Order: sequence, then structure tokens, then C-alpha cells
Amino acid sequence: MTGIDSLRNVLELERRKGYTDKAVIGGLDKYLHTQAGQIRQSVNNPQLLKSFDELNLANSNYRSNSMDERKRWITEVFGWLDKLEKATKSTLTSPLPSRERNKTGAVVEPPQERKEGLDSPITVIKGISTGVDRKFAKLNVRTVQDLLYFFPRRYVDYSRTKPISELVVDEEQTIIGTIWQARVATLGHRRGTEAIIGDKTGNIRAVWFNQPYLARSFRTNARIVISGIVSLFKGHKVFESPEWELLQEKELIHTGRMVPVYPLTQGLYPRQVRKWTKEIVDGYAWQLGDFLPSEIKTRCQLLDLPMAIAQIHYPDDQTMAARARGRLSFDELFLLQLGVLARKRDWQEGQPGNALYIDQEVVSRFLHSLPFTLTQAQERVLQEILCDLKQAKAMSRLLQGEVGSGKTIIATLAILIAAANGYQGALMAPTEVLAEQHYTNICSYLSQVGTQEHSSEPGGGPSTSLRTGTIRCYTGFLPSPLTITLLTGSLKSSEKERLHHEIGEGKVDIIVGTHALIQKEVEFKKLGLAVIDEQHRFGVLQRSALRQKGFNPHVLVMTATPIPRTMALTLYGDLDLSVIDELPPGRQVVKTKCLEPQDREKAYTFLYRQVRNGRQAFIICPLVEESEVLEAKAATTEYERLSREVFPDLRLGLLHGQMPGSEKEEIMRHFRGGELDILVSTSVVEVGIDVPRASVMMVEGAERFGLSQLHQFRGRVGRDKEQGYCLLIPEKFSPEARERLRLMEKVHDGFVLAEKDLELRGPGEFFGTHQSGLPDLKLAKLTDLHSMELARQEAITLFQSDPSLNKAEHQHLRQQLSRAWSGGAEWS
Ligand code: ADP
Ligand code: MG
Repeated sequence: MTGIDSLRNVLELERRKGYTDKAVIGGLDKYLHTQAGQIRQSVNNPQLLKSFDELNLANSNYRSNSMDERKRWITEVFGWLDKLEKATKSTLTSPLPSRERNKTGAVVEPPQERKEGLDSPITVIKGISTGVDRKFAKLNVRTVQDLLYFFPRRYVDYSRTKPISELVVDEEQTIIGTIWQARVATLGHRRGTEAIIGDKTGNIRAVWFNQPYLARSFRTNARIVISGIVSLFKGHKVFESPEWELLQEKELIHTGRMVPVYPLTQGLYPRQVRKWTKEIVDGYAWQLGDFLPSEIKTRCQLLDLPMAIAQIHYPDDQTMAARARGRLSFDELFLLQLGVLARKRDWQEGQPGNALYIDQEVVSRFLHSLPFTLTQAQERVLQEILCDLKQAKAMSRLLQGEVGSGKTIIATLAILIAAANGYQGALMAPTEVLAEQHYTNICSYLSQVGTQEHSSEPGGGPSTSLRTGTIRCYTGFLPSPLTITLLTGSLKSSEKERLHHEIGEGKVDIIVGTHALIQKEVEFKKLGLAVIDEQHRFGVLQRSALRQKGFNPHVLVMTATPIPRTMALTLYGDLDLSVIDELPPGRQVVKTKCLEPQDREKAYTFLYRQVRNGRQAFIICPLVEESEVLEAKAATTEYERLSREVFPDLRLGLLHGQMPGSEKEEIMRHFRGGELDILVSTSVVEVGIDVPRASVMMVEGAERFGLSQLHQFRGRVGRDKEQGYCLLIPEKFSPEARERLRLMEKVHDGFVLAEKDLELRGPGEFFGTHQSGLPDLKLAKLTDLHSMELARQEAITLFQSDPSLNKAEHQHLRQQLSRAWSGGAEWS
């Protein structure tokens, strides 16, 4: 007996028993929940599937309903079963699919299914020439599959059809009427088309500017659908350049429905693109095999893939659009999660890690050498890390903590543990200046616990220079001497070679550097721990590269950008999470003030006084999202203006993203060294730079930045004992901008600001997934914590039952997964 038959029987029985929930042992809800998936699978008509989903058998809540509601619901299910029966019969008796009618009453031709594969170039579609396909290539659309996944940005809702007499001004509406007259007309000073369209209730004029050729397509007495906004012209209602579509034996795609709006590029026109996407959806969506296991679809109430694709392009209504989006964004998050879990498993179980011995003596001597005690949060995180290091399983941990929360100390101690076990430890920073900064800090910690020996350089003497490539040596801490070096890209190649050699020989224990560390020439003798600072500049791929340096090292990633937890689990689900959520005592909050644009002079005066008192200042120029070139230009102009007109007697520097890396590093070095008073910069200054004497952060065009970013900016000042100030100057002051920026004055917790940011501006603020090697998220909203949690749970469940996706029913999913992750890691 099929699932359908047994459903019918059970419901019959239930009806006979007077809706008392006695038909099956355990109750109807449980029965339906277990059967729904199977029943659903035996339905292949999209319409019926849709109505099946609406019945929501898997979560019927039958027990909690009243008798009346139970009765009504069962009657509905019977209604559906009848329809299903009829549909099955009719396809058995008449092989031709029945023609359907669309909303407007026109008979619709069934779509033409196409046989070419999904990987065929889009030129298989009539009308897509090689010229056009080049334009699509700019949008990363090359194959039929790409076009199926080329989603509309939004929809215009033209589904409200009205009689002409009931049209109201200034609203988007649709009419269906007959063309009484159409002609070329002079509109303003240009030629265009004018038509009079009527229905039973009245007539209306429609005009199209600059499109006189339309008049030819508009035959008198043809039926036409017009969608657009009605406006008033000389007291009469008129449609101005509305969307139009002749009513033929085809489904409407430009009017009379939810019409998709695609992100376009020059030379692609909305009408064409809609026509093509419709053709692709009708012709090929059926070929998309559904890779999601059906239990998951049932449990999460997700649409089937072909249906979701069809509905995301041409939704029946808002609800279906939302459900389509729900299904497709689930896919994105689910695949992301599966990949991330697999990666973690590969790292941790693929090869054994190195269990380190934690010498408590080393730990306590280091901690006692510090002029302060660890905060509780640092203490907790340290224990988490030490606990990982002890395991014969490589650590994969993300350490989050605000700027200045004391991450570096913790990382340093972890590196020392590695060194004490005879392993090398590496610390990688995103820029040379940051690498130098870490190097200096670690050296100064080491000189507290040990004694610096003569350097291995010919010519000797304790090296005081920060020079990259020098090896410093500390004794008296660990039983054997401890060596440390700085490796950056600016090292001369002969020196680089020598250093590579020394690292390969194991002559250096601690290597601090930039991404020069992950070049393939660098071969560690015995890498035991890699620490990566400021995660957002490094992606998954760099993390992999470092891992591939052998020995399956423990990895600690540090970031100062607060990421809400679920989001961290999603984007960095391959990492365990530690958070330092407490600042060292006595740390002052940066006093933040949001000024009116006209108060700029006052801000300058304040800044000037600070500099005169021996402090330094940053001035951040407005963000220009469209173009880094324009942004650089604007910053240069501002820098010149400030140098000439505002602070002629101070020393100003300029920093922007268009400058070569070495030049940027140079400027930062000057500023840090106190040779500049004010640094005028674009947002490139954001990352962890430590300028102890900087006390003022002035941000122009502040409303253009996210709260998290502003918070990062202000983290750059007040790092000393002195009070830090942050002055926010908006360019335009909308009430929302004002409210948002006011939060900066009150809130000093980066996590709270991050959550607010997500709420107010969406996740764009956070790590773009592009450079990170993660699959692209086109639809999934990282703000939708509920969906993320759901996808994660499902991924974990699946992963537990079939971690390598070896089961036959998961083969399709496995392929999909490697497709999604093709930009990044291998899926084996
Ligand atoms: P992060 O790397 O998180 O930005 P750092 O480790 O660089 O922070 O620490 C910032 C400053 O705070 C350093 O000067 C460090 O010596 C100091 N510091 C770290 N932990 C403490 C603590 N528990 N108490 C007082 N000062 C601390
Ligand atoms: Mg730091």
C-alpha cells in the first residue's frame, strides 16, 4: 500500500471515530509527522505540491485543535487527496498535460521542457547571441545553471489588477484592456507612442516617451496588460511609460504579477532578461535534481528545488517568494555548514595533532613577570587554549576580544608553550607594521622573563634594532635559549634566503611575520602552533596554507571584530570560539561626541590643542563605496586642504588604499614614531595599529560607516593612560543617522554595536565571504539567526549520520557541496 492509500484509510477511520484522534496508536500528529515526507515524494505536480505544503502535514497540531477545526482540516486533506487522484488519472488517460489558465483568463501553453544539460552555455536560448553572453559574463552568468541561479534583486508587485474606473493616482496597479487606438505622437519635444486603452468600466491614456516604434506593435483591438504607476496630467489619469504586455497564449512576465527586477549591466534590458529567465526557468528548472534529503525538506518545510527556483524568479505571490527565498538561502547556509564541519573534521582527524606538555612552571613564571594580573576573561580563555594544546588533536580556535583586551599576551604564552615543547611557533599579522608591533611586544615580554643574548648576526651585540631578519636570543627562561625573528616581505632576498634556511634548520623558535610566512619557500622544521592576528584580512585559504606547513599545527586565530555568536559559528564554524569579554581594569572608554557639520571648526581647534600638548590625531575621510580611486582622490584633496588652510604649522601625513604597500607601511611607521602629528586617512587605517600617543580620532562622513567600523576606529586612540576622544562628523544628518551615531556616544561594547549594526545595516559590514574562500551567500541573510541555527543543526545531524557523505542517497548532495566549495578547499 502506498503512503497515499494509507493516509486515506487512516483519515477515513478517524472520521468514523468522530475526530477523537483514535485512528492510530500514538495519535495522528505523530503518524503524519513520520509519513509526510514519504507522501510528499510521491507527488510530482507542482500545484499539488504547493497545496500539500500548505496543509502542513508534518506539523499538523491535530491534537491541540478543537473538534470543529479537526473536522475542517481533515475535509481539506480529503479535498487534496481527491485532486491528487484526479490529476493522476488524467495524466494516465490523456498524455497531454492539461492547459492551464492564467489569472487573466488566457489559455497558457505549457512550458517547453528542454533537454540540453544545465552546463550548456546560455547561448542555447534563442536571442542570446555571443554579444549578449559577454554582457552576462560580466554578471558571472555563463551557463544555464548560472542563469537559474541569477536571482532577482526584488520584485515589483503588479498583481493587483483593477478596473480602469477604480485606478488611483500614485499607486502601482495593473489593468487588462483593449487597445482602442495607438499612434505615434509628439510628447514634450520628442516622438513617442500614445495609446487609449479601455475596459468595461472606462478608458485611460498611456504614453511611452521616446519609443515611437511601439505604436506598430499595438494593433487596434488587441488585448493588452498595462502595469505601472498612474499619474495625473492636466487633470486626467495617465500611465507614463508603463510596463506592457500583449495578452497572448503565454504566461504574463512583465505585467499583472510579481515581476522580477534583476541586477543588470550595461546593454542588458529588463524586458529581454525577463523573457530569457522565464524561458530558462520553464525549460530547465525541472532538470535540477534536488540534493536535499527529503527528511530535511519535510522537517524544515522547504520547497523542492525546481519549485523554489521557479518561484524565486516568477513568484505566485509574496508568500511563495518568501518560501522560495527560504529554501534557497537554507541551501546556502546548509552547504556552508557542511563544508565547514568537514574541514574541521579533516584537520582534526585527518592527521593526529601534537599533544603539548603544559609546564606550569613556564606558565606561572611568565605570568608573574607581567606588571599586571590577567583579567578573569583572559584567565578563562587561557585555560581553554591550554586545554586544546594538551590534546593530540590540532587546536582550531577563534579568539575574539576587543582591541586592547589582551589577546596578544595569551597568544604569546601559547607560543612559549610550543617552544618549551621543542616546537616552533609562528605569529602572522596582516601588515608589516602590525607584525613589527607584535615582534616588539613579544620581545619586551621576553626581556622581562629572560635575558637577551648577543645576536647571531656577525658583529654581534644585543640587537636593539627592529630590523626584520635579525634573530634575537633570550636565555634564562626556558632550559635552552629561545630565539625569535621577524620575517616580512621587505627583507632583502639574500637575507630572506638565509632566514628561510635558519627556519628550516629549526634555529628559530618564534617567527613573527606577515603573509611572507605562508610563502611556499618557508619550510618550518617543526611548526607546532600558528597564531593568526586580525582574522578578517586572512581567509580560510590562508589558514589552510599555514596548516599545510606540516605537522598539523595548532591554530589560533585572533580578531578584534566582534561577531555575534551564531554568525561566528556559521562563518567560522571550523573554529572553536573563545571570547575575552572584559577589558583590563582602569581602561578608559574613548569619549565620543557626535557633532553637527557646522561644528567642524571647533573640532579642529580641539585637535590642534591636543597636538600642541604632545598628542597625535587621526582624521578619517568619508567612505566612497563605489570606488577606491575616488576615495583616494577625495582623501588627497582633503589632506591638501588641511595642510594648507587648517593646520599649516603641523606635520600631516596621508594614507589611502591606492598607495603601494611599502609607502603605506612607511607612513604608518612615521606616524607611530611621532614624526607626524596628524594622519589623514581613508578607512585603511582600521586594523590593529597601536599608536600610544594618539588621542583623537576624528571621522568625517561618519554616517557612512558601520557602527562596528567606527568602534574599530576609536579603538585606535586612548591606548595610553591618557583620555582618548572620538569626534564623529556626519556629512548629512538624517534623523536615522543621528540616532545611529548617538549610539556611539552611549555604547562602548563592541558586541552590542555589532548586533545593532546587523540590525540596522545588514551584514555587509562583516567579513565579505568573497575573499575568504567560503561559498558565496547570495540570498542568505546573516542577520537571520534562526535560519542559521536551523541550517547548522541539520548539517550537524546529517554529518553525524554520514560524515563522508558516502550513502547512496547523499551522492547528489556531495556533488553539490564540492560545487559550492569549488573556490576554496578540496572536498574529498
Ligand atoms: P589586544 O591584542 O587584544 O589588542 P594587547 O594584548 O595588545 O591587546 O593588550 C593591550 C595592552 O593591554 C597591552 O599594553 C597589554 O600589556 C595590556 N594588558 C593586557 N592584559 C592586561 C591586564 N590583564 N591588565 C592590564 N593590562 C593588560
Ligand atoms: Mg592586537
